[in-house]
Amino acid sequence: MTHPAQPKASHFINGAYVEDTAGTPIPVIYAATGEQIATVYAATPTIIEQALSTAKAAQKEWAKMTGTERGRILRRAADIMRERNHDLSVLETYDTGKPLQETLVADATSGADALEYFGGLAASLTGEHIPLGEDWVYTKREALGLCVGIGAWNYPTQIACWKGAPALACGNSMVFKPSETTPLCALKVAEILIEAGAPAGVFNVVQGMGEVGGALVTDPRVDKVSLTGSVPTGKKVYAAAAAGMKHVTMELGGKSPLIIFDDADIDNAVGGAINGNFYSSGQVCSNGTRVFVQKGIKEKFLARLAERTGNAILGDPMDEATSFGPMVTENQMNIVLGYIEKGKEEGARVICGGARADMDGYYIQPTVFADVTDEMTIAREEIFGPVMSVLDFDTEEEVVARANDTEFGLSAGVFTKDFTRAHRVIGNLEAGSCFINSYNDAPVEAPFGGVKASGVGRENSKEAIKHFSQVKSVYVRMGDVEAAF
Ligand code: NDP
Repeated sequence: MTHPAQPKASHFINGAYVEDTAGTPIPVIYAATGEQIATVYAATPTIIEQALSTAKAAQKEWAKMTGTERGRILRRAADIMRERNHDLSVLETYDTGKPLQETLVADATSGADALEYFGGLAASLTGEHIPLGEDWVYTKREALGLCVGIGAWNYPTQIACWKGAPALACGNSMVFKPSETTPLCALKVAEILIEAGAPAGVFNVVQGMGEVGGALVTDPRVDKVSLTGSVPTGKKVYAAAAAGMKHVTMELGGKSPLIIFDDADIDNAVGGAINGNFYSSGQVCSNGTRVFVQKGIKEKFLARLAERTGNAILGDPMDEATSFGPMVTENQMNIVLGYIEKGKEEGARVICGGARADMDGYYIQPTVFADVTDEMTIAREEIFGPVMSVLDFDTEEEVVARANDTEFGLSAGVFTKDFTRAHRVIGNLEAGSCFINSYNDAPVEAPFGGVKASGVGRENSKEAIKHFSQVKSVYVRMGDVEAAF
């Protein structure tokens, strides 16, 4: 019997599912049970060629449509996604292992928001008129052309939409490669776009590992690469794109600080730390994994944090009561367990968790370390799992310097009732996506992205339009041309 998560075929090209079993088989494993639920095949050179040539050809006609027409299709796709939210959420849970309690509200819904938002903007992408006496210049905002999207495994539906929606709104076409770990959801996004009326070839999905991504990035027909992934992969992909002078957006990893001053509302701060460390079992790039707590409230904060973390419900991700799921793969689980051991060895104090959960699947207990110091491995490296490091601090000046002492710069948060201090501290933190008395909100209306090694460019909001389009300026002379000879 075929599992309900088994896609019709591995790739989606030119408006239809396409299979080529000559590619390397990629097993799709359900993280909650370890069971293989589907198989896809990595794209062969023939598949890659089909996807790129189709997307290149489709782009010209797509860009000729009016913004209103393109926007209508994207908004229709948003409506279809919302109507099918339950089925899409179940698929997202199979793909990632994240609990249905989360996927019902954070994945297809976030993808639909992006399709709706950029669908709404598509008709208003205009240039300007610049008068120069009798002469004038006008500008046009034009598509870049053929864009490649490469996704990480934590939010497969959302990442496909966060990249696809602005790209398509601007008149580009896209070839999207999901992570080999979570290949299923992007195929549904491609299917829904076609159903909503997108011309065949405008949004294509091909499967594969890094080498398929590499082949896409280096192809001379590709004009832009948008990657969500780790910093090491980002450096490689950025360098490969630079060799072809391609546009890039890099959404990479982080080790973000969350600073809690002693005047903060403790329960809100604990809530922020939980959202910033344990949502999606900690597999979120913007997580505030270095929680700096001012010394006066340290033990009170830790006690409340341990109490609330104890309320996490680990279990079957398909049960809507479950609030904490497994790691995406066995490999990711082992990486995270390795970091937990490092934390213990280097002298951090385990407040709660600290081990694999005693159940089937790749579950790790939500883990909090206290007495973490800046040089410990768990305070320096991105773990990408449910491991929170709590560090103490005395003064604002000290904590800002320590918070910034990292190569990363994706996010930062501050909890305090002193608003002057909140804005001053945020102003001094080196991070792209920041929060005051909150953590990890990601509305499509707000720009999202990092500084320093955490990335280049921004996703979401009007900012994303700038990264998926370019400006043509046209000088118009009304009189005669003067020339030297
Ligand atoms: P990776 O960097 O391992 O992979 C990201 C994607 O790039 C995958 O699809 C991968 O394919 C592909 N890839 C790998 N090597 C190459 C290459 N040489 N050329 C082209 N493509 C390549 O990240 P993960 O999937 O492990 O995701 C976790 C990371 O993503 C974390 O560091 C996290 O912080 C970051 N992330 C950042 C976000 C942000 O918006 N800032 C959001 C979510 C995650 P494959 O996996 O098939 O090998």
